Amino acid sequence: MKNSDDSIMLILSSPSGAGKTTISKKIQQKFPNFKISVSHTTRKPRPNEIEGIDYFFVNEEKFKDLIKKKQFYEHAKIFDNYYGTSVESVKTLINQKYDILFDIDWQGTQQLSSYPELNLIKIFILPPDKKELKKRLIQRNQDKNDVVENRLKSFDNDITHWHDYDYVLINDNLELCFSQIEKIIHLNKQKKININ
Ligand code: ADP
Ligand code: 5GP
Repeated sequence: MKNSDDSIMLILSSPSGAGKTTISKKIQQKFPNFKISVSHTTRKPRPNEIEGIDYFFVNEEKFKDLIKKKQFYEHAKIFDNYYGTSVESVKTLINQKYDILFDIDWQGTQQLSSYPELNLIKIFILPPDKKELKKRLIQRNQDKNDVVENRLKSFDNDITHWHDYDYVLINDNLELCFSQIEKIIHLNKQKKININ
């Protein structure tokens, strides 16, 4: 993979419901040079989700065909659905000199980490506690009860992967958490300027 010397590639991972979609949107608003890497998924769209903006929604047959054709940098099965990062989308963003935001899980993070030419900054976001996580999953009100329970169940395993990340942040107060991410972005931009 060709890396842009100027681009920052930020991975945000968290147990489902901790707030990474919310934070990703805030990053894009504050830093217009950041574009989210739009993943492919076999999950059904939520009511507010838009094709090509939130995900490329495909069926399992199409997804498996894309795997066979080596169209993904990484892919994983999560909560009974497939998710993957397409080579083409990432390359397009790199060529356009955008900074890239990856909203992917720990499995995808491990796979992307095997490309040493990518200067990844890996951030793991935690909720203040499990009770608050459940509240957020329910409040989001976009998944059925069994889906919420499934996501809560995977919390204990998800958090064991924190050590694969450069930073671990707690999203209790959203503004505070976001200000920490801003600092991380500025710090790493500065590092790049000093290196280049
Ligand atoms: P994820 O993408 O990690 O699954 P979301 O960004 O969809 O999580 O957030 C889950 C829910 O929690 C959303 O309803 C969101 O508005 C809410 N939320 C996010 N951050 C906070 C926070 N710091 N305090 C309270 N609610 C939050
Ligand atoms: P959701 O169904 O809530 O949108 O996402 C479920 C989980 O899939 C989240 O942890 C999210 O970060 C992860 N995810 C989304 N896209 C990708 C992807 O392309 N690859 C991987 N590995 N995980 C992804």
